[in-house]
Amino acid sequence: MIPERRDDPIQAGTRGLRAGYHSPQVDVEVRLNTNESPEPPPAAFLEKLAEELGSLSLNRYPDRHATALRAAIGGHHGVEPEQVFCANGSNEVIQCLLLAYGGPGRPAMVFEPTYALHSHIALLTGTPIAAGRRDDRFAVDPAEVARTVRAAARRYGPTSPAVTFLCSPNNPTGGVETADSVRAVLSSVPGILIVDEAYGQFAPWSALELLESDPRLCVVRTFSKTWALAGLRLGYAVADANVISTLANVALPYHLDAFKQVAGRLALGFSQEMRARVAATVEERGRVAAALLDLPVEIWPSSANFLLFRVSPRDGSQVWKALLERSVLIRDISDWPGLEGCLRVTIGTRSENDRFLSALREVLSQ
Ligand code: PMP
Repeated sequence: MIPERRDDPIQAGTRGLRAGYHSPQVDVEVRLNTNESPEPPPAAFLEKLAEELGSLSLNRYPDRHATALRAAIGGHHGVEPEQVFCANGSNEVIQCLLLAYGGPGRPAMVFEPTYALHSHIALLTGTPIAAGRRDDRFAVDPAEVARTVRAAARRYGPTSPAVTFLCSPNNPTGGVETADSVRAVLSSVPGILIVDEAYGQFAPWSALELLESDPRLCVVRTFSKTWALAGLRLGYAVADANVISTLANVALPYHLDAFKQVAGRLALGFSQEMRARVAATVEERGRVAAALLDLPVEIWPSSANFLLFRVSPRDGSQVWKALLERSVLIRDISDWPGLEGCLRVTIGTRSENDRFLSALREVLSQ
């Protein structure tokens, strides 16, 4: 899906959309391709959820304002419920943001390689893309920000880019934006800045800390990763109350079902367990990274629950297939511009990681 590097960073229309973006869902023994939590949510959470389900009035529409859930998320982050918008996964939050702030003639700026769904959903909503490139360490360089802003403004006028995406930690490269970098991008763009923190709990800081400094900043988070609730489909945005009411205007009526509203609220009561999982994942990530250093691969530092590595500029897909033949599924991103020969592996349980490492060792020694 990532547009090829061209001097003109603008891409518009749905012609460039690739049908095969999504990671394949195949039956394997070791599934390390979509950055989920390898463990189920805590048993005590499931018990509580079962208790509360009995009192749901499923014959009635759910609370359209998700009052209790938004209050709980607001409490978790120390912000007002009016600063929280929830949707069915952070992808739907992003879709609502693009429906509200993007659209024809209102481009969204991204820095690639990054989470491909930012561009994908933008193009689906008729939002043109202004695509800058990350530097060779996958950082967002201020000169590239300025170049891409200029290209967007030249084509679409001085209020462009209307939307800017940063992803911190960045999927699939794993690096975290610094506070200075987020501030610098904010001051370079005329429109809203979305910081996608799907892996935010693994990072040393959060752009939530900058929320009060600018009403154009919006932080997006998900229950799909560290909360071990990818199956629930729940994500949210934290921003200025005006941004949130704009998002509420574009969401479908009753878009957030009653079950999800209860489950999300209850999950927040288990934040200590969530933090323990983050710590365990970070430890495993260190072990897997150290093991990869002993193999003929290039790897990058990660502040998320996955690792990016390059087997060789040409052999990415073959290695990916050979791992799949050994029932180990990881993510093949070897055809993304700038990531030639790269694969991304999610950190799983200790035994899953061992299966991955021994399969990779075997494949690379052949
Ligand atoms: N943002 C990023 C950076 C992601 O990696 C993902 C999941 N792969 C999402 C958003 C979407 O997460 P969800 O829709 O499950 O909340």
